[in-house]
Amino acid sequence: MPINIAIDGPSGAGKSTLAKRLAEKMKILYLDTGAMYRGIAYYVLEKGVDPADADGVKPLLPGIEMTISYDGKSGVQQIVINGENVTPYIREHRISFAASTVSKIPEVRLKLVELQRKIASERDCVLDGRDIGSYVLPDAGYKIYLDAKPEVRAERRFKELSEKGQLNGMSYEEVLADVNKRDYQDMHRDFAPLVVAEGAVVIDTSEMTAEQVVERIEEIVDCK
Ligand code: C5P
Repeated sequence: MPINIAIDGPSGAGKSTLAKRLAEKMKILYLDTGAMYRGIAYYVLEKGVDPADADGVKPLLPGIEMTISYDGKSGVQQIVINGENVTPYIREHRISFAASTVSKIPEVRLKLVELQRKIASERDCVLDGRDIGSYVLPDAGYKIYLDAKPEVRAERRFKELSEKGQLNGMSYEEVLADVNKRDYQDMHRDFAPLVVAEGAVVIDTSEMTAEQVVERIEEIVDCK
């Protein structure tokens, strides 16, 4: 049976940084499941459909063929929809909330969960998301829930957007409000909300560096 490591938590808790480093160290696959929801959100917006309009989104789903590939040089995950690599567009700030909104639709989740479970059943991998330990892979070998104070998570997000030149004049307070709004929506949806999965180890990364988080996880996951 492949080794599956589930890393869940709210936005800005450090999941992707940690998941990437862990996967590199263990020489296994890193599956960023948030990017999959972002891909759907991008596609829906491009079609001129409101991500909150379930009746508008659902008919689009059968026409979406998503494949995940890994860039030969950098190894970075690529999301390809119907042959188009949408990866360069899915990190924009406008996509973040759209992804959270479209991910409330059960049919969207079921489509992506099927793909996530297939990948996880075939290969050792670290998966990060919101529902990996609680819904996608409740029997994952390791389950970690990363958390941090909202102010710290917003600061990380603010820094990331500013480094990418994507702040578009947004203040720290606005980023904080967006982070809170998105987490609230992710925690309160009906289907597979963000929760601490049964058996998950909870780590508060507010006062920790990325290196310290990696070290802590290495104590939990025997990968040395
Ligand atoms: O992790 P990331 O910020 O890229 O995720 C974008 C959005 O996708 C999240 O806010 C969440 O609503 C949704 N998501 C999800 N389940 C996952 C991963 C992401 O609902 N496993």
